[in-house]
Amino acid sequence: MIFDGSLLTHLHNARHIVVFTGAGVSAESGIPTFRDAQTGLWTHHDATDLASPQGFQRDPALVWGWYEWRRMKVLRAEPNPAHLAIADLAGQVERLTLVTQNVDDLHERAGSGDDIIHLHGSIHQPRCFACARPYAYPAGIPDEPEGGRRIEPPRCSHCNGRIRPGVVWFNESLPEGAWAKAKQAGGDCDVLFSVGTSSLVWPAALLPGIAAQRGATVIQVNPDETDLDDVAHYNLRGKAGELLPALLDVLRKFVP
Ligand SMILES: [Zn+2]
Repeated sequence: MIFDGSLLTHLHNARHIVVFTGAGVSAESGIPTFRDAQTGLWTHHDATDLASPQGFQRDPALVWGWYEWRRMKVLRAEPNPAHLAIADLAGQVERLTLVTQNVDDLHERAGSGDDIIHLHGSIHQPRCFACARPYAYPAGIPDEPEGGRRIEPPRCSHCNGRIRPGVVWFNESLPEGAWAKAKQAGGDCDVLFSVGTSSLVWPAALLPGIAAQRGATVIQVNPDETDLDDVAHYNLRGKAGELLPALLDVLRKFVP
């Protein structure tokens, strides 16, 4: 694989790299994107039904069942070469900030540490809908049928409220502090990688633009064209699991 010499120079000289990941990275581990997951029982339900506070209040069992089905997929998935390459890259630069829109823990399991900024929360950290106290899942992998099923959510041991997934839903704001930290890193970095995100979900989608405005080099890794193509200085078309390991390999041997 051939990479532009100026891209390699930017990476070689970078002191702070932000890696911003989206659903495409998890999809390479077999976790369906939101749209791809709208199959079986979920075919005729949209984001408002499945991923909003209003949808949860209307039909908690539908929403909890959907997230249990997704959590089962996450628990059975493994980090892919893109996750591993990002963890590897952190060891090669002075500072790397990992910002993800993904709600799984595949970056953590790939060795990226535990200070990853999860802009959209975590599927592994449910809490009470009423009082927000955390809830611990029973150990093990739930055995959900293909296509999922409706499941009544557990109740909070403190207030008997319903337990909800710990993810950010439509019509909700990002976790306190997470967006502020992400913006700060975006404004401070020399290079921002945008990996596997279609850059549509606001405000997360603003991050590459913030970095570009502050003079950072923006590198996009995506198999498809996205809204970010015009913002990015380099568009690497392909699977992150192939491109990132190849890029790191070249970077290791690079002499400016
Ligand atoms: Zn409660």
